Amino acid sequence: MRIAALIVAAGRGTRAAASGNTPKQYAPIGGRPVLARTIEAFLAHPAIHDVKVVIHPDDKNRYAALVIGTPEKLSPPVMGGDTRQESVLRGLEALADSSPDLVLIHDAARPFVTASTITDVIAALRDRPAALAALAVTDTLKRASVDGIVEKTMSRDRLWRAQTPQGFHFVPILAAHRKAADAGLRKFTDDAAIAEWAGLDVAIVEDKPSNVKLTTAGDLELADHHLTSQTAFEPRIGSGFDVHRFTAGDHVWLGGIKIPYTHKLEGHSDADVILHALTDALLGAIGDGDIGQHFPPSDPKWKGAASRLFLEDAARRVRDRGGRIVNVDITVLAEAPRIGPHRPAMQTLIGEVLGLTIDRIGIKATTNEGMGFVGRREGIAAMASASVLLPSASG
Ligand code: MG
Repeated sequence: MRIAALIVAAGRGTRAAASGNTPKQYAPIGGRPVLARTIEAFLAHPAIHDVKVVIHPDDKNRYAALVIGTPEKLSPPVMGGDTRQESVLRGLEALADSSPDLVLIHDAARPFVTASTITDVIAALRDRPAALAALAVTDTLKRASVDGIVEKTMSRDRLWRAQTPQGFHFVPILAAHRKAADAGLRKFTDDAAIAEWAGLDVAIVEDKPSNVKLTTAGDLELADHHLTSQTAFEPRIGSGFDVHRFTAGDHVWLGGIKIPYTHKLEGHSDADVILHALTDALLGAIGDGDIGQHFPPSDPKWKGAASRLFLEDAARRVRDRGGRIVNVDITVLAEAPRIGPHRPAMQTLIGEVLGLTIDRIGIKATTNEGMGFVGRREGIAAMASASVLLPSASG
C-alpha cells in the first residue's frame, strides 16, 4: 500500500499581509516557515511514502531555501495553476506516474496537523473511497437578513467544518478531478466536494481543534507566539575573524557590495572579508565548524564564488536547528577604501540574507593608524560577532 501526501501551497495568501510580500505559507512561526512545518509533519509520518508540494511559480526560490537537506520522501515540487482546484489536479497528474494507492491532500496553511489525524484519515480509507478531517460545529449558528438582523437560529445537528487532510483512493479522485475540469466546473473549494459530486462516499473523521488554518496576519502572530512561548531558548554568541591581502585589481567585494578600488583582495572566492567573518560568527554561535570546513578552498567549485552563498548556508544551518538570529555586529580594519558610504547597501544585503532589519546589523570601520599590515595597506581584516537564540536542549 503506497500512500502519497499532496500539500497545496500555490496560493498567494494575500489576507495575511504582516510579512510584507511573503506569502503566508512561507512566513516563519516559531522560527520556521509554516510550509516547512507542514511538510515535516507528513515526512515524519511512517505510513506516508511520498510527499509532493504544489507551489506558485513565483515561489521557486523561496521553496528551494526552505527545504533543508534532501529528504528521501520529498519529491520535486509541481507548479500550481490559477485556482486551488487546478493546482490540486496538476499535483495529482504529477503523482499519476508513481500511481500511489491513496493520496492525502492537505492545505499548506495547516502546519499543526497531528500524526493521529493523518493515521485516522488513512484508517477511514479502508472502508471508504474518501474521508476528510472535520470538526463538529459547536457554536450556535444564526442566519441573518441582508441588514444583519437574525432571522433564524439554525440547528447545528450533524454539521461539520471541513478541514484537511482529505484522503482518497488515488484512481477515483484523479478521475473525479479530471471529470470536473472537463465539465468546466472550477468552483469547488475542497476536494471532498469534488468526490461528493462524483458520487463517492466521503467519511467524516473527527479532527483535533489544534489543526487550524492560518489565514490572517493575526493567525500567524498567534501561532508564532504559541510556539515561541512553548519553547525555551538560550542565547548563543559567536565570533569570526578574516583577513585577505591586496593584489592587482580594480575593485574589492565587501559586505556583498562591489566597491571600486586601486587593488582587489586575493582569495579563492570573491575574498569578501566581511561576509567571511560574519559566516564564521554564525557558525561559531551554533558550534558548527567554520567556513573553510563547509566550503574548502581546495574545492574548485568555490573558485570566484559570491560569498553571499556562504552566509546563506550559515543562516540555513541556524534555521535548521530551530534558531533565530538576534543581531550581528561587524568591525572592518582598513586604511582604505572608505566603508561609510557603502554601509546602507551592505546592511540591506545582509538583512535580506539573514532576515534581519537593518537596526540589527552593525557595520563599523576603523583604520589601523598606519600600524601593522593593515596600516601598510597590505590587506583588509574584519571581525564579526553574532547573537543567536537556539532552542534549549532540555526545552
Ligand atoms: Mg576569507
